[in-house]
Amino acid sequence: MPSSSMATADLRALVHGAGPTGALTALALAEAGWTVHLSDPLDAAQLRARNRAYAFNHSSRRLLERLGLWELVRPSLMPFRRLQLCDLGTGAEVPFTTADLGRRVASGADGSAAAVGWIGLHGPLMELLQRRLAAEPRVSQAMGVGSEAEPWPETAPDLVVAADGPHSPHREGLGIRVWQHTYSQSCLTAQVALRGTDADQAWELFRPEGPFAVLPLEPGRAQLVWSAPSSRCRRLESLGADGFLDALAGALPDRFQPDGLLDQPRSFPVGLLLARRLQRGCTVLVGESAHRCHPVGGQGLNLCWRDVAVLHRLARKASAGALAPSRLPRAYARRRWPDLLLTLLATDLLMRVFSNRSRLLLPLRRLGLAALANLAPLRRLSLGAMTNGPCRPW
Ligand SMILES: Cc1cc2nc3c(=O)[nH]c(=O)nc-3n(C[C@H](O)[C@H](O)[C@H](O)COP(=O)(O)OP(=O)(O)OC[C@H]3O[C@@H](n4cnc5c(N)ncnc54)[C@H](O)[C@@H]3O)c2cc1C
Repeated sequence: MPSSSMATADLRALVHGAGPTGALTALALAEAGWTVHLSDPLDAAQLRARNRAYAFNHSSRRLLERLGLWELVRPSLMPFRRLQLCDLGTGAEVPFTTADLGRRVASGADGSAAAVGWIGLHGPLMELLQRRLAAEPRVSQAMGVGSEAEPWPETAPDLVVAADGPHSPHREGLGIRVWQHTYSQSCLTAQVALRGTDADQAWELFRPEGPFAVLPLEPGRAQLVWSAPSSRCRRLESLGADGFLDALAGALPDRFQPDGLLDQPRSFPVGLLLARRLQRGCTVLVGESAHRCHPVGGQGLNLCWRDVAVLHRLARKASAGALAPSRLPRAYARRRWPDLLLTLLATDLLMRVFSNRSRLLLPLRRLGLAALANLAPLRRLSLGAMTNGPCRPW
């Protein structure tokens, strides 16, 4: 990580939660010149153990570049250069390619950005972040021991970051309430051997029972993110490999041929969650402690990392003496609202508009997707919003 060239005050932050958001927050604050204490009740191995794949977009790529982490992380990611959006209710299809990214986004700092997005597995990603944290002298860690240990008993920290997930004990401790809605859909994830799609192509299939993403992991291997009514997800989860592959073949268009199940399918409930405020006192809510959205469009972790991007910019300003540390939490909250509200609204709308066979909506969907397929500026606009977030700068 490049060392900060700024004149740094001795600023200290406590980061609660060392999932993908908390780990990156600790690295971002350290890069900004802060001294950081990171804690999590889980130990490092438990933190790596989740079997998940994330779709990363250009907002995450840019943050990793700013933190000097992109070159480290990139080899573990699978780029996809095409994203095919298919509405199985109307038969309409929209192909997004790197040409729809616009020249500014498509040419990343090192020319490596010629991808619509990247898929990364949780384990290797966490391992890289943990290795970097261990080598970072500004970060101390307390993993697997609870968050009670107070590293600086004599002085209060300048900033407390609650990155402790959707059930955030710190958010609850501060009495911050949330708006939330649990969808009747759940989300089932599984890795499969799959023919009928290229290694550099991702798919977002809109099925009447819910969105279905097919994400390339390596040639012939894909991660599925399958949204469907919760009872159906539970049934699918309990089927044996053969039963699951049969159900999958029935759900996917004919061009896909599932050949094998490579892990145990797991379903989890999906919901919308938004904290009613993003800070209180010197504490800020970051990542899923502040918000959660439907997995459609792969926005979740990217949205969490855009929180980190804003915090990083403000932390640098504070280090440089251009922002009083006491004003940082409010500045953070003000800057995050537009992106959070628009992204949560967009994912909710996408899910509602496409997860049905409404006679009223089908012609509108056909029309909208035909416009998207035929008008390059419209494709650039929508892919730009998906990959950069709906409102830059963040
Ligand atoms: C079952 C499941 C499957 C998922 N699969 C996918 C997927 O396939 N693709 C995808 O893009 N997204 C997936 N998601 C969503 C994705 O995991 C989240 O977007 C991401 O984990 C958010 O990261 P986070 O660091 O904000 O929160 P979390 O990953 O939840 O991390 C929060 C951390 O806080 C810690 N913590 C809890 N209490 C305390 C405390 N008191 N003090 C300190 N630390 C504490 C927890 O131990 C945890 O490590 C899935 C989510 C779930 C629940």
